[in-house]
Amino acid sequence: MSRSMAQARTALVATGRELVDLGLSPGTSGNISVRVGDRMLITPTNESMGSLQEDRLAELDLAGNHLSGPRPSKEFTLHRAFYRRSPEARAVVHLHSVNAVACACLEPWSEVSAIGPITPYFVMRVGQTPLIGYAPPGDIAQADELEARDQPFRAALLANHGSVVAHTDLASAVNTAVELEEACKLAVLTAGRSPRMLSHEQAVELAVKYGSPWST
Ligand SMILES: [Zn+2]
Repeated sequence: MSRSMAQARTALVATGRELVDLGLSPGTSGNISVRVGDRMLITPTNESMGSLQEDRLAELDLAGNHLSGPRPSKEFTLHRAFYRRSPEARAVVHLHSVNAVACACLEPWSEVSAIGPITPYFVMRVGQTPLIGYAPPGDIAQADELEARDQPFRAALLANHGSVVAHTDLASAVNTAVELEEACKLAVLTAGRSPRMLSHEQAVELAVKYGSPWST
């Protein structure tokens, strides 16, 4: 096994535990993956993220062929979609965290983002986050929609389901998912109350300065 693959296994196990400790992985929900070369390492199906083991992770190629380890989460298609659309992505975090799910049950703020520019940190660290239409978990067409969506983004909400975030490394993907969860909480708390948002100019200024996706 290559050194980078061994490091990826260690990082996935530690990150799974961290997400459970943060209360972001109710039950056995959510899944995380890392891309190493042309392969992805992902959490197995029906496994609590708090009890992952380094030698019990699923290894797939980017075509979705199962190469080794236990059966992957059926939601691997979401991960593959992000790796295909974002060559720089090296980690994907998918959560059923309560505020992300609640927000994903509301009407989106706009065509390109489920949440408006509600705080500077949401714009800087997450950026525009499209709402992808509902489909049963593991649905290929939904993953295809995410892959083909014609706008820049590093995070999306899946209608009535949860969040999915991609980044250049696992720690950054987790930090972004945590920031998204906080923004979703604010969106839910202020829903129907006409909250003041940052102006378009204010949001774009931050996005340009911090290199985040915001084009609304
Ligand atoms: Zn899910």
